[in-house]
Amino acid sequence: MPYKSREAKNANARKWRAANREKRLAYERQWRAENRQARNEYINQWNRENRDKISNYNAARRERKGDQYAIEEAARTKVNYRIRCGLWPKPGVFICTDCGSAEAQEYHHEDYSQWWNVEPLCRTCHVSRHSQTESID
Ligand SMILES: [Zn+2]
Repeated sequence: MPYKSREAKNANARKWRAANREKRLAYERQWRAENRQARNEYINQWNRENRDKISNYNAARRERKGDQYAIEEAARTKVNYRIRCGLWPKPGVFICTDCGSAEAQEYHHEDYSQWWNVEPLCRTCHVSRHSQTESID
């Protein structure tokens, strides 16, 4: 079906994604499980080839957030350390707190000054949590 404008096409795509959320998440979950190794290799390669882009992005974020950045970074570092050491489970053992349907992929800090206070969320819900207040981190 031809669209009158790019906006109309995007709006329709958004509507479809919202209406088929469960189906889409299940498909994405299955795709990730079947393509885990290829996906990890792709991500690692992208990260290796885009070091400048990543460090510019992080520098801009640090600049924008000022003192808050150090607090957030300290909270993330503490959580990641505990996951690496096996003191905390990976978020993947939980179901997303917000949608209750997808496997959680990330821990969310509502308050970064309480680094131990986290909620397991799927990527989609984590992005939408942050988009209510600020850009995603
Ligand atoms: Zn979710």
